[in-house]
Amino acid sequence: QAKLHGKGQVCEFAAGMDADLRERHDLELDLRRALSRGELKIHYQPLFDSSGKLTAFEALARWPHPERGMIPPDRFIPLAEETGLIVPLGEWVLRTACKVASTWRSDISIAVNLSPTQFQRVDLVETVSAVLKETGLEPWRLELEVTESLLMEDTAKALALVTSLRERGVRVALDDFGTGYSSLAYLHNFPFDKVKVDRTFINKITNDPNAWTIVESIIVMSHKLKLRVTAEGIETGAQLSLLKGHGCDEMQGFLLGRPMPETEASLLAGEKQTGRKMHEILRT
Ligand code: C2E
Ligand code: MG
Ligand code: MG
Ligand code: MG
Repeated sequence: QAKLHGKGQVCEFAAGMDADLRERHDLELDLRRALSRGELKIHYQPLFDSSGKLTAFEALARWPHPERGMIPPDRFIPLAEETGLIVPLGEWVLRTACKVASTWRSDISIAVNLSPTQFQRVDLVETVSAVLKETGLEPWRLELEVTESLLMEDTAKALALVTSLRERGVRVALDDFGTGYSSLAYLHNFPFDKVKVDRTFINKITNDPNAWTIVESIIVMSHKLKLRVTAEGIETGAQLSLLKGHGCDEMQGFLLGRPMPETEASLLAGEKQTGRKMHEILRT
């Protein structure tokens, strides 16, 4: 595929390479370097239950590029996917996030995103088990977020993987629900713990009745299927109260907390007693 390392190939490419391709090639080299030098970072975004209690953080990869500034994951994750760099990158995120979370209060979980390529690796379950053992994190505190595209590639294999992760006590969430094909068969056939409703729906629920009808139905249906529901991308108080009023189990969004550096997250997650409540965070 996008291997630019075959000998004669490099020259051929270099000669006719258009600006876009060159740019991508440079970025790939930079990403490879950043990864090997440990220059990538993880930010952590808080999640709350409906009583306002802090329940988890989602690990989100960040790339502070020396010249280009902060490169968002929407740009470098797809690149990492295409070049295979996602495997070491994803494993680094998993290991680092679990290590950090193992220092937190034991009622706070960590959510880690898995990309399709990572998911296709036969050794995924072994890697996850090894990381849990190494970091001492209780399996139920790790939640892996997968997307529908990843389930579609090879549904039977995906089902076996999710099942085997669940058997090890790890939780699995269906991320960005509503954006893909949203096949109800996935919800029905896969042993997910949770559905995360995509923020493109959440940001319309208070001004688009159809969007709200869809989200409300997802909540009702998921509960009947014994799945928990998380709303991502909550930005307004009106969205928050609508979701809370209709039994949404977990809330995430800029209104409640932006992705933050490790030190800040650990400060929130490390507090003894009951943890900080949503309304305390809203006040500060
Ligand atoms: P995601 O897993 O759906 O993560 C949620 C994204 O929504 C994050 O974007 C988060 O910052 C953003 N978000 C949360 N609340 C709000 C809000 O109220 N308003 C708005 N406008 N945005 C909000 P981010 O960090 O840019 O990540 C984008 C995507 O990149 C993630 O979407 C995920 O698919 C992917 N990604 C990030 N880190 C990793 C990683 O370590 N591995 C893999 N495979 N993918 C990752
Ligand atoms: Mg996610
Ligand atoms: Mg999401
Ligand atoms: Mg999303």
